[in-house]
Amino acid sequence: MKDQINVTRSSMPEFEEFMAEIKELWDTHWLTNMGVKHKEFAKCLRNYLNVEMVTLLANGHLALECAIAAFDLQGEVITTPFTFASTTHAIVRNGLDPVFCDINEDDYTIDVEKIESLITEKTCAIVPVHLYGNVCDVETIEKIAKKYKLRVIYDAAHAFGVTVNNIGIGNFGDASTFSFHATKVFNTIEGGAVTYNNEQLKKTLYFLKNFGITGPESVEFIGGNAKMNEFQAAMGICNLRHIDAEIARRQQVVYRYKENLDNVKGIKLVKPQFGVKSNYAYFPIVFCGKVNLRDCVFDELELNNIIPRKYFYPLTTDYECYTNRFNSNLTPVAKNIADRVLTLPLYADLELKEVDRICGIIEKLL
Ligand SMILES: *Cc1c(COP(=O)(O)O)cnc(C)c1O
Repeated sequence: MKDQINVTRSSMPEFEEFMAEIKELWDTHWLTNMGVKHKEFAKCLRNYLNVEMVTLLANGHLALECAIAAFDLQGEVITTPFTFASTTHAIVRNGLDPVFCDINEDDYTIDVEKIESLITEKTCAIVPVHLYGNVCDVETIEKIAKKYKLRVIYDAAHAFGVTVNNIGIGNFGDASTFSFHATKVFNTIEGGAVTYNNEQLKKTLYFLKNFGITGPESVEFIGGNAKMNEFQAAMGICNLRHIDAEIARRQQVVYRYKENLDNVKGIKLVKPQFGVKSNYAYFPIVFCGKVNLRDCVFDELELNNIIPRKYFYPLTTDYECYTNRFNSNLTPVAKNIADRVLTLPLYADLELKEVDRICGIIEKLL
């Protein structure tokens, strides 16, 4: 029996490289609370992402939750339902009301044409998602935000290393949040970061992630605990050394998928975006024909020990925990894509002959 092929496989440095990186921790016994590895990783990351400021956090969800909390918002937040649970949950867990905007048919990010009609007196922010690493229309979003005085916090969990006209993706909006979860393009096992350019935000995020402690005997804010530890930071330092090579190998896999599937009738692929350097984070395909085709392909791949994912189905508005609260019929494009999308296996060491095999199975069913 062939080994199972999953939608992703975590990137890891050589065992010896990681051991060498954490050896120091046995000398210092300093395991967390912003130690040497944390400082070094923050510096490397700031360089790599080409941003002014970065705050490291325990995971991507807490990065988003803290970034939203830092702006002390009230009321309604415009966002999309075609995303991972984290985006919607982070808004709701901050006591805010998400208002769902539909997505566009080209890259599945927020449809900027539809944002303004959703703005009310209560709107305080927009939380768009650079979904699959596709870049939102950052210029139009900035114009709208300026016009209505709204905060913009980008969920950039998928967009590590992406650039737009050579500008790092973490430079847009009031803040951008990244996930370094094991399944993402770049990982620190679990981990996350917020990027921004704002001295006050730096302080607020620090208090939010470390109990609001402002001195040895003073606690001025009601913060939580969202600190990245030294082992996570060490993993980040190691993985960052190899990230460009990893992305280059992902690119090869994506090119092979495209060679196979570009002209196949009944499948829609995401078009490359102009001026955008991609990180090849995901390879979503959308089936245009009968609605159950996606599920047939999923089942057939599974029989062959290939496990794709229906990212992102269901819409967050259709989750059990939000029953009777939101209405997914108000975002018909998102609903349609969620019913038809399949995200194929993609990771740096996925063999090209396996890509051909996966595509062969799909083409046969079509
Ligand atoms: C993974 C992810 C997150 C959360 O990141 P974690 O590191 O898993 O907490 C947030 N938003 C999106 C879109 C994600 O895919």
